[in-house]
Amino acid sequence: MTHSGSSAFDEVNEKVAQAGELLKIKPGVIKALSSCEREVVISIPLRRDGEVDVLTGYRVQHNSARGPRKGGIRFHQDVDLDEVRALASLMTWKTALIDVPFGGAKGGVAVDASKLTPIQKEEIIRRWTRSLVHVLGHHRDIPAPDMGTDSRTMAWLMDEFHRLEGFQPACVTGKPVELFGAHGREEATGRGVAQITAATLEKHDAKVKGATVAIQGFGNVGRYAALVCQELGMKVIAISDVTGGIKDKSGIDIKEIFGHKTLETVEGYERITSDEVLEINCEVLIPAALGGVINETNCGKINADFIVEGANQPLTITADRELRAAGVVIVPDILANSGGVMGSYFEWTQNIQEFSWPLEKFRRELDLRMDKAFGNVHKVSKQYSVDLRTAAMVVAVDRVAEAFDMRGSLV
Ligand code: NAD
Repeated sequence: MTHSGSSAFDEVNEKVAQAGELLKIKPGVIKALSSCEREVVISIPLRRDGEVDVLTGYRVQHNSARGPRKGGIRFHQDVDLDEVRALASLMTWKTALIDVPFGGAKGGVAVDASKLTPIQKEEIIRRWTRSLVHVLGHHRDIPAPDMGTDSRTMAWLMDEFHRLEGFQPACVTGKPVELFGAHGREEATGRGVAQITAATLEKHDAKVKGATVAIQGFGNVGRYAALVCQELGMKVIAISDVTGGIKDKSGIDIKEIFGHKTLETVEGYERITSDEVLEINCEVLIPAALGGVINETNCGKINADFIVEGANQPLTITADRELRAAGVVIVPDILANSGGVMGSYFEWTQNIQEFSWPLEKFRRELDLRMDKAFGNVHKVSKQYSVDLRTAAMVVAVDRVAEAFDMRGSLV
């Protein structure tokens, strides 16, 4: 959602400043919360194709006022310091918003993950961990997967950390279930999206049972969001992925199609294109695939009353403004897709206690806390007469500023 000319980090800080003004927080405190506590840039030499390639890696720790820093590691060719700062800052606001005892961080390596062999990926994450071990740890900074990394990558990270520092499974989250991961973590983001969708409908006096939903994305977030929406009584009338989409006015049986890797192999439904799903007439639209998919070119064609942002930044700034002006209620990504971070918190807390929860407990806690987070944001949006996106930042900035102040960090 970047404006040309301003950096991604500047844009996040604009929102922090806006929340600070509404809350009448001292400009000095806002200035402190608009900078990062620590930024480490490392070089990662990698042998490939008979040559030595030198990659750049990052860990930015934005804020720890509310607890150890938390945030993913991204392997992508576009990773740079400005992006990592922006994402680290967003983690501070997301963890505060859902009220888990973490601060914010983010890491990355500027490399095209699709061109790496598994061994190269392992070498990179081990080197990244060795170079940064002094700033990591379950009470300092806890990484997690992001674009280009997965549970296997986190297993290598944990193994490298253990070699250097000894046993500490809570040093990273998003691990495989077989290796200190948590049952329920995989579905947590999509499940949270569905819970937030139900809460949004209820708060706006719309019926959950039978509410029509269209979803873009049939990956981790989209498929679990679809499944839980169906379990909660909603009717998923259209869904798409990179291979195209399907629609059915009377509702798609998500349970039945769930086992398909992509929608390409699903039969018995009318086919639509990947993007058509965004323009379907429905009550709730859940973009859960890519950023920037609702933009100047198609926002006039959106036919939904509610948009719940499953993906990160699926709406451009202009589309967001125009749709809100047209009366569409938009639930921001920082709230809607925060179930993943909530799930990471559950994994971390189980690892620290060396105790594992049954799946039912994980789900119960997630549902309760997502509902509470939504209720709080909704209340603040009424209190300040602002949209849900602004309200979410007001809740988050208020909590972090208060913790910062109570710690006496200004002295
Ligand atoms: P994923 O890779 O598992 O799935 C992505 C899905 O998007 C796939 O079904 C893919 O086919 C589909 N897709 C790709 N291009 C498309 C197109 N042009 N049209 C329609 N569909 C298309 O990714 P994910 O983990 O589900 O993440 C989806 C989004 O949610 C991303 O923006 C991610 O940053 C965000 N997110 C994910 C998590 C998480 O825990 N996985 C947490 C927070 C935010």
